[in-house]
Amino acid sequence: PATTMDELVSLCKRRGFIFPGSDIYGGLQGTYDYGPLGVELKNNLKAAWWRAMVYERDDVEGLDASILTHRLVLRHSGHEATFTDPMVDCRNCKSRWRADQLKDNKCEKCGSTDLTEPRPFNLMFKTAVGPVAEEGSFAYLRPETAQGIFTNFKNVVDSTARRLPFGIAQIGKAFRNEITPRNFIFRVREFEQMELEFFVQPGTDDQWHSQWVEARLQWWRDQGLLSENLQAYHQAGDELAHYAKACVDILYKFPHGLEELEGIANRTDFDLGSHTRSQADFGLSANVDPNEDSTAKLTIPHPETQKPLVPFVIEPSAGVDRGVLAVLTEAYTKESLENGSERIVLKLKPHLAPIKVAVLPLARNKPEIVEKAKAVKNLLMATGIGRIFYEDTGNIGKGYRRHDEVGTPFCVTVDFDTLGRGDDPSLTDTVTVRDRDTMSQVRIPINELAVYIRERLV
Ligand code: ATP
Repeated sequence: PATTMDELVSLCKRRGFIFPGSDIYGGLQGTYDYGPLGVELKNNLKAAWWRAMVYERDDVEGLDASILTHRLVLRHSGHEATFTDPMVDCRNCKSRWRADQLKDNKCEKCGSTDLTEPRPFNLMFKTAVGPVAEEGSFAYLRPETAQGIFTNFKNVVDSTARRLPFGIAQIGKAFRNEITPRNFIFRVREFEQMELEFFVQPGTDDQWHSQWVEARLQWWRDQGLLSENLQAYHQAGDELAHYAKACVDILYKFPHGLEELEGIANRTDFDLGSHTRSQADFGLSANVDPNEDSTAKLTIPHPETQKPLVPFVIEPSAGVDRGVLAVLTEAYTKESLENGSERIVLKLKPHLAPIKVAVLPLARNKPEIVEKAKAVKNLLMATGIGRIFYEDTGNIGKGYRRHDEVGTPFCVTVDFDTLGRGDDPSLTDTVTVRDRDTMSQVRIPINELAVYIRERLV
């Protein structure tokens, strides 16, 4: 795995995975842009999550709610009052810090210990809505995707006739005005989340919580993260948010340290209870603020008594960008080769690789070879396995190295033997397939190529 953030940042910029946001104007702190390969990797990770959460299960529905959010949603969710980090100012150099991130209570810039008392800083971004800038005509950019799920609870239940237990999954952007964005894409101001809200009958919540922790750990292992670099951290009572009954953080050994990749919380009936009307009718277990604004009862029939119930919710909440950083960290490998040289190879799981296959014609100035190579590309593309890259730089060795570095699992070479013009006529209509990890090469008939590759891409 990568041991420093610098080597990842450098690879990401050099090969087109991730660039600083607004780069040509000096950058906008806390924003990053995903380049040609980064967008593929990120999409593949999100697709793997969606597949595991929605397609492979029979108890989860999908959702894509809006980013602009009514202030009442974020007032009743508790975010207006409490979605804050403790901020301190350095009296010496005037810089600002998140108090709980400072080592030994020292300013990171000048080392001074002359700091103000921490005060709460609200992390939500506000934006004006509509052409008339009036007091109050603003909306929030959502600080998490979860609230869109809670506010659509009734819509989803009514339109799908779901009964407990069931979940709603969503992937999308979230925005937080972090006091100190840092560590590349680990802590940024604009990021993506993959969140599931899984609604259950109270009393079954502890068991569902443990099940989700296991399922999520297994999913991250399936994305290539090694068990030895993952840790499930059970928050102690005094670390828990006031509404949470339990929370397990999945930590990963990032280059900058062991840090949170995903949180899995048992949030009881706090969220739906906070957003429902007629709160007093439902015997809520969570302590919620009064709500005179909501127009809907966020209930579902109790599985046994059929009485309206505000269910408990288990929330696995993962960061897409932190996921991308984790799989890049794990995949990054430096190998010393027999000839004394070194190669950098991204050993990404094939389903995450931005490019699935590179097709390389042995010579770019031989029309028959070029034509054949393009036909092979089209044949592979038609199978729908993802991006197939036609690369006719003419230098096969360099092509292999470039594709090692971006994690392309297979390189396919078309040569004179393919055309039936080599020494061995039995090689006609075969191609060379080179494996990224072992660097071994095999000769495969073109008509078996799609099946060969497909079998090895999962
Ligand atoms: P932290 O303690 O690191 O600030 P958090 O506990 O506030 O994170 P949650 O509110 O639980 O984070 O958000 C769920 C997930 O969203 C996190 O596990 C993380 O993967 C992702 N996430 C949260 N904030 C950021 C951020 N600023 N940049 C990138 N990803 C983030």
